[in-house]
Parts: sequence; structure tokens; C-alpha cells
Amino acid sequence: MAAPDAQSIRSGNRRALAKAITLTESSLSAHRRQAQDLLEELLPHTGNSIRIGISGVPGVGKSTFIESFGQLLLAAGHRVAVLAVDPSSPVAGGSIMGDKTRMEQLSREEHVFIRPTPSGGTLGGVAQKTRETMLLCEAAGYDVIIVETVGVGQSEFQVAGMVDFFMLLMLPGGGDELQGIKKGIVELADALVINKSDGEGEGIAASTQTQYQSAFSLLRNESHWTTVVMRCSALAKTGLDEVWETIQSYVTSTRASGFFDHQRSTQNRQWMQQLVQTLLLQRLQESKAVAAALPKLEAEVEAQHMTPYNAARRVIELLDKG
Ligand code: GDP
Repeated sequence: MAAPDAQSIRSGNRRALAKAITLTESSLSAHRRQAQDLLEELLPHTGNSIRIGISGVPGVGKSTFIESFGQLLLAAGHRVAVLAVDPSSPVAGGSIMGDKTRMEQLSREEHVFIRPTPSGGTLGGVAQKTRETMLLCEAAGYDVIIVETVGVGQSEFQVAGMVDFFMLLMLPGGGDELQGIKKGIVELADALVINKSDGEGEGIAASTQTQYQSAFSLLRNESHWTTVVMRCSALAKTGLDEVWETIQSYVTSTRASGFFDHQRSTQNRQWMQQLVQTLLLQRLQESKAVAAALPKLEAEVEAQHMTPYNAARRVIELLDKG
């Protein structure tokens, strides 16, 4: 496959963008190399977006929210890319997010680019591809990137680590456990947004909001930002303006304090560190010298002729032998 040129991507050619994303998702090393060359060329043109992460249990209203919120962003003149990290989706076909027609209206809009979760691979692999797709979308001129994930496994932690603003969509009523929210993730959220605050749900949503607000006022720390607790109805399209205003004021205040750039550099450094581990592991798994020596080393360890530490070191030394 011929790699699309950087200029076509920058000029907003959707086919070129889609092709570049396919290259980054390919398992062929020739494609990976092409994709990396392209990304490096585009790197100076990336970063000019607001990256928003959205997580929440299945059924909380993520796709309805993005559908309505996306329209609001479009009306304000933005170009919106919607990406997904759904580790449940590969091959087995049991995708939590992919098995229904989602964001039907939004997907027909000219200034919207929607890309489902990359298929296959580990969560780390899926997250890596999504980060690269995000950069490609930025180079193509999308200035709001929404990364959506289901709160299963560890995917929401991965997404929180790749965006500027991370929000948790919640249901009216119930504590963290009832809502299937994992320990530690609420603390990572820049906003908790209680969805379905409409009809009979409105009163419960309001008291849920008060509960979380008081929990947060006790919890507050040294942080750059105080987690905001809001409510909205994705269906009735209420409260969405407030969400967007909050995100904008977050960006303004963290840019002014320097936290915005600091967080992005930290995320890039951590991304690189994760990749060092991934690539090392990959080399280990592909090494013929290691594969040849491993059974004997394992036997030595089992028979207590060799310490596990020495055997592990021997494995690492074998990496040099290919
Ligand atoms: P997701 O699994 O998180 O993507 O959730 P969906 O967007 O598919 O929504 C799940 C269900 O909740 C659907 O039947 C939606 O119509 C409904 N829903 C989503 N947002 C709202 C809302 O704001 N109010 C009400 N009453 N229902 C909603």
C-alpha cells in the first residue's frame, strides 16, 4: 500500500487520513515504518486541538452524549474527531460499543470524523494506535478530539493518560460501586457529568450531584483544577453548554498556569516509556536465540541448578545474539 502524502492529510483529504490510520493499525512492519515516517513529518502540525476523554458504563449515554455534544461543537465552528478505545471489541465480535448504529446524525456531518476502536491486540496496543490516530486527526485540522471508552478493564486509565480533559459520565443515583466505577478513576476525572437528568430522573440526578459535590469538597487537594460535578440530559440536550464552557475554562486556566503543556509532555514521556517496554517484550518474543535457549534455562531453574535471576539475565544477554 502506498503511503498517503503528508500534504493530502493536512489539506483535509478524508481518504488520505483514513489510509494513514489504516497504516498505523497495520501489523506489517513495512506499514508501521511508513506510518512512523509520515507521523514524524506531520508532528509539527499536531497538538492544536482540545483532547477530551469520555468514559462511563455501557448504557450511561456516551454515544447519545457525543451525538448531541458533537452537534453543539459543530455549531460553534469546530471540526470534531471521535475515536474509541474499546478493548472488548476484537475478533470475538462482542463489542460493547460497536454493535449498534451509533452517532447516526453526527457521522453524516462533513466536519466530523468518526473512527471505531482499532481491532486486535492488547489494550496497550489499542491505546497506542488511538494516540497515533489522534495525532493524524490533528494534522488533518480536527480541533476537538473526543476519545470514548467503556469503563471495563483498564481502558479508562489509558484514555485519561492521553487526553487534556477527562470526564466521567454517570447515572443518576447510586455510589461509585453501584455505577461500576473503578477505584481511582473518579480522582482522575476533571468533571463528573450526571447524564439523564430529565423527566423523573431529574430529582435523583440533582441529589446525586449534591452528594458528589460534597464528597469532592472534602477531598480537594493541591491540584491545578477542582473537579466539577455537573448534570445534563444528552437526550433533551440540556446542560451541554455548561459542559463545553467548563472544558473551555479548564483549557484557559491550565494554559495560563502552564499545566496544560506540562501534562502533554508528561503524557508523551510516559507513552515513550511504555513503548520501550512493549518493544523490548516484542524483541524477546521474536528472538530465535531466546526461543532456543529458554527450555533449557527453565529446566535449570526448576531443578534449582540456577537462580531465576541468573536465568533471566542470561535471557536478556541472548537478545544481542538475535
Ligand atoms: P452508551 O452505551 O453509554 O453509549 O449509551 P447510549 O448512548 O447508547 O444510551 C443508552 C440508552 O440511554 C439509550 O436508550 C438512550 O436513548 C438513553 N439515554 C441516553 N442519554 C439519555 C438522557 O440524557 N436521558 C434519557 N432519559 N435517556 C438517555
